[in-house]
Amino acid sequence: MVVTGGAEPGANPTDTDPEVAAAAISDAARTVADRLRSWAEEASGTAQEVLATTAQIATDPTLIKDAQKRVREAHVTAERAVWEAAGAVAQQFQSLGGYFAERVRDVTDVRDRIIAVLTGSPVPGVPQRSERFVLVARDLAPADTAQLDAASVLALVTAEGGPTSHTAILARALGIPAVVGVGEAVLRIREGAMIVVDGGSGSVTLSPSEEQVRAASVRTKARTFSGQGRTSDGHRVQLLANVGDPAQAQAAAAAGAEGVGLFRTEFCFLERESEPSIEEQVQAYRAVLAAFAGKKVVVRTLDAGADKPLPFLTNLDEANPALGVRGYRTSWKNPEVLQNQLTAIARAAESEDAEVWVMAPMVARVSEAEDFVAACARHGLGTAGVMVEVPSAALLAGPILAHAAFASIGTNDLTQYTLAADRLLGALAPLSTPWDPAVLQLVRATCAGGDAQGRPVGVCGEAAADPALAAVLVGLGVTSLSMTPRALGDVAAVLEATTFDQCRRAATLALATTSAYDARAAARAELTVLAELAL
Ligand code: PEP
Ligand code: MG
Repeated sequence: MVVTGGAEPGANPTDTDPEVAAAAISDAARTVADRLRSWAEEASGTAQEVLATTAQIATDPTLIKDAQKRVREAHVTAERAVWEAAGAVAQQFQSLGGYFAERVRDVTDVRDRIIAVLTGSPVPGVPQRSERFVLVARDLAPADTAQLDAASVLALVTAEGGPTSHTAILARALGIPAVVGVGEAVLRIREGAMIVVDGGSGSVTLSPSEEQVRAASVRTKARTFSGQGRTSDGHRVQLLANVGDPAQAQAAAAAGAEGVGLFRTEFCFLERESEPSIEEQVQAYRAVLAAFAGKKVVVRTLDAGADKPLPFLTNLDEANPALGVRGYRTSWKNPEVLQNQLTAIARAAESEDAEVWVMAPMVARVSEAEDFVAACARHGLGTAGVMVEVPSAALLAGPILAHAAFASIGTNDLTQYTLAADRLLGALAPLSTPWDPAVLQLVRATCAGGDAQGRPVGVCGEAAADPALAAVLVGLGVTSLSMTPRALGDVAAVLEATTFDQCRRAATLALATTSAYDARAAARAELTVLAELAL
């Protein structure tokens, strides 16, 4: 049993030099952020996102500056200042309600971690256990949930928290049945007691009968995916994987992916002082293509800039890097880098049996799509498409797809640019959700453009890995979904149990709302299978 939540530090003034305390606050926040970031690097999918978001909250200037102001003006201790500053942020989120209110737990978690570093006390977290167990807690921080090992944590039950909180979503993404917000009584369950937790119905059974235990163990089999994605009435949806290097490609093939919907090629460019040689690139790309002989692999050309800076290609002094020379735009000043990459992709494609498609990131105008497709054709790459990550591309998808063979919607960036919310900024995390009806409208517009030109439109952003949103995307007209391989089983299971009409109804309901919170709730209410599948 774990009870999280730190003790409130005393409010008495202190003699400590306020500047020393202010420096200690920023140091402690940095330590917490670095720790969370390194966990994020080892995680994947939703867990990675949550850990990265929590890391951003830890370095949020609003929080840190407010805490430093309090030590300077009220002469309270550093830990008291962090407690109060986090309290102010949490209160603001709480009063905004909905999605914001659900992020309060992330703020208090960051607060407790920074205070633990400042006071040298144990960092909050889940104790290690050697046996498999059901974890019962008052509440669990998303960052702690993200690190749970599904092999040892059989289920999670919390006294507090909401069903759409990050903790609940994350536990589901990790394949851990979770029942949250069941009330204080659950904290009285004694250590070692036998309980059955049903994440689908949200029930917790104390002292279950043998029959109840047997029935529960039948339902805990992990969902795997092999074969083809389709709805229950046979509407075909290709289920593909996002991969970033050869090892991930092999894991994706082993997970049964129908192909690769997004091959991020940055891995052979990052942390380099100069461009890798064409031969080096050929070898790297071949290693990924080899895992998908006879299957589709969508290779994305280099997406440098903004969150992926490259010293030899991008200008680190831009005031607004996310709105700067990134993605396809880097080829304007350095066309040879794109030409060399297309040469390498074409050679790798010739040497392997995968069906190679190529796409450019951050395309914003019709002329760019036209130029990119022409460049690919000159290299013998016949299936050239674009990523739709900018609202302009979504709105002009029809004319763009008159040139491009396909479109793949990058919902991570499309959300960032639609909501004007930096995807790396923790303070704006509540805005960064692809459930926002404005993002859904742009997905719909892209699909309409695809329909008009008879071209396929896929989604390769994180949105595709959310089983409920995946069904909505299919209802909006998306023809393929590309995701972290771990999500394939759940997404396939939801589609297999849902008709195409239900997907369309869920999409229509979500589109008719005016907030991400309502869009998600409306779609989930229509997709009743989610609860049956404990998703
Ligand atoms: C996206 O933006 O949704 C996407 C898939 O690209 P990346 O996350 O690599 O920017
Ligand atoms: Mg992107």
